[in-house]
Amino acid sequence: MKIHTKYLTIKTEKRIDFVNITEQVREAVRESGIKEGIVLVNPMHITASVFINDNESGLLRDFQNWLEKLAPKDFDYNHHQTGEDNGFSHLWRTLMGRETVIAITGGDLDFGPWETIFYGEFDGKRNKRILIKIIGE
Ligand code: ZN
Repeated sequence: MKIHTKYLTIKTEKRIDFVNITEQVREAVRESGIKEGIVLVNPMHITASVFINDNESGLLRDFQNWLEKLAPKDFDYNHHQTGEDNGFSHLWRTLMGRETVIAITGGDLDFGPWETIFYGEFDGKRNKRILIKIIGE
């Protein structure tokens, strides 16, 4: 069994953003030389998500509108009593999930036709790391 670990660093210009990281993950799988296995991808921050969905700009706006309705940005969260202002960011991360796991078959991501890996940034404008851990043979 082989194991390959890689870290990506992302700094978005906007506080909230969705970044397609599919090609970076695919490149890490190629680098690993692993043909059959799994790849885990997760942000190493509690105000960001990694998730898989359709690469369609309207849908990404729909996600943001839906998150805003469930956990508005300007709400007076208990978390803000610590001096922070990112209560919504933590809640959005939980709603969108922490990580994704993808099967590797024949040395590539074994995806359905529209599956795309997104990094969801909910408190950006600073460097954030993403862990890619590939296990297989
Ligand atoms: Zn916080």
